[in-house]
Amino acid sequence: MNKDILVVIEHIRGEVADISYMMIAAARQLAETTEGEVLAVLMGSGIENLAGNLAADKVIYLEDPQLANFTSDTYQQSLENLIRENNPRAVVLGHTSIGMEVASLLSAKSDLPLVSSCLSFSGENGSVKFTSQLYGGKILAEGLIPEPIALLTMVPGGYKPEDGQSSTPPLVITAAAPQFADLEISVKQYIEPETGDVDITSEPLLIAVGRGIQLEDNIEIAEELAEAIGGVVCASRPVVDQGWLPTSRLVGKSGYQVKPKVYLTLGISGAPEHTEGIAGSETIIAINTDPAAPIFNIAKYGVVEDIFDLVPVLTEKLEES
Ligand SMILES: Cc1cc2nc3c(=O)[nH]c(=O)nc-3n(C[C@H](O)[C@H](O)[C@H](O)COP(=O)(O)OP(=O)(O)OC[C@H]3O[C@@H](n4cnc5c(N)ncnc54)[C@H](O)[C@@H]3O)c2cc1C
Repeated sequence: MNKDILVVIEHIRGEVADISYMMIAAARQLAETTEGEVLAVLMGSGIENLAGNLAADKVIYLEDPQLANFTSDTYQQSLENLIRENNPRAVVLGHTSIGMEVASLLSAKSDLPLVSSCLSFSGENGSVKFTSQLYGGKILAEGLIPEPIALLTMVPGGYKPEDGQSSTPPLVITAAAPQFADLEISVKQYIEPETGDVDITSEPLLIAVGRGIQLEDNIEIAEELAEAIGGVVCASRPVVDQGWLPTSRLVGKSGYQVKPKVYLTLGISGAPEHTEGIAGSETIIAINTDPAAPIFNIAKYGVVEDIFDLVPVLTEKLEES
C-alpha cells in the first residue's frame, strides 16, 4: 500500500521558499494518517546544504547540473522517475508558479489526479481528506484524496513554516537525476527585478492597499497611516495594474515575496495569488468590510470595518501617541 508523502522542495537562489516548510508540516500530518514517511525531494546542483533544516524523515537529493535552474521539464521527468521508484501516497507541491507548472505537466504526462489549492488536510480511519480553496479562496471544498497516488498543490495559510523545520538534520540520500530527454526549456539568464524606490522585501512594517481603496487619491490615507506608524505602502495587483503604485510595490505571485513583522491589509480580499507573497509575514492584520473575505483565514487580527472610517481615526490616534 502507498504510504509515503513526497514533498517537492522549492528554492530559489540558494534559499528554501517558506512554502516548502509549510508543505513539510502538512506532509507530517498526512504521513501520520498513512503511517508512512515524509520524503523531501531537493533538486539542484551544489545545494545539498539546503536540506539541513527540513523536518523530513529523508531528503532525496537529486544532484545534476541540468537541475541548477528550475525548468518544468527537468522537474517533471525527475518526479516521474521518483514516483515510479517510491510509490508514494501523495506528492505535495506549492500552488506557486513553479508548483503549478510542474503539477499540471506531471498530472497530464503520468495520468495522475491533481488536487489544487489545498489549504489543509485531515485524517479519518486511514483515509485522508483535503480542504481546498476555490474561487480565489471564497469557497472551501472538502474531499478524499484520490487513491492510490495523488498530486496536491498547497496554498499558504494552513500550516506554519516553523513546523516544517528541524534543528536535527535529516538523512540525505544523494541520487542521480534520470537521463533527461527532449528538454525544450533552458534558462539563459536570471534577471533581478528592479527594486525601485523602496525594497519592500526588507521592510518590517507594510501597509498593503487593495482594490477596496477605490481611487488613486485615496492611497493618501494609507500613506498617512504608514508615516504615522513608520511603515511603507505596498499593494495588491489591481492597484498596480491601475498604475496607482509602481510594480516595485506589488506583493504576490507576480510581484514580491515579503517577510515583514507586520503586514496590515486595507481592502484586500486575500486571493491565493496575493497570499502567496505574504506567507513569510510574522503577523497579518486585515481590515475589510466583508467578514467572509479569505484574508481573515490567515490574518492573526481582523477588523470588519470600512477602511475610510477606521484608517483616518487610527492615524490620528497614532499621531497623538
Ligand atoms: C497569474 C496571476 C497572477 C497574479 N498575481 C498577483 C499578484 O502578484 N498579486 C496580487 O495581489 N494579485 C495577483 N493576481 C490577482 C489576484 O487573483 C486577485 O485578483 C487580486 O489579488 C485581488 O486584489 P484585491 O484583494 O485588492 O481585490 P479584490 O479581490 O477585489 O478585493 C477587494 C476587497 O476589498 C474589500 N473592500 C471593498 N471596499 C472596502 C472598504 N471600503 N473597506 C474595507 N474593505 C473594503 C472587499 O470586501 C474585498 O474583499 C494574479 C492573478 C493571476 C491570474
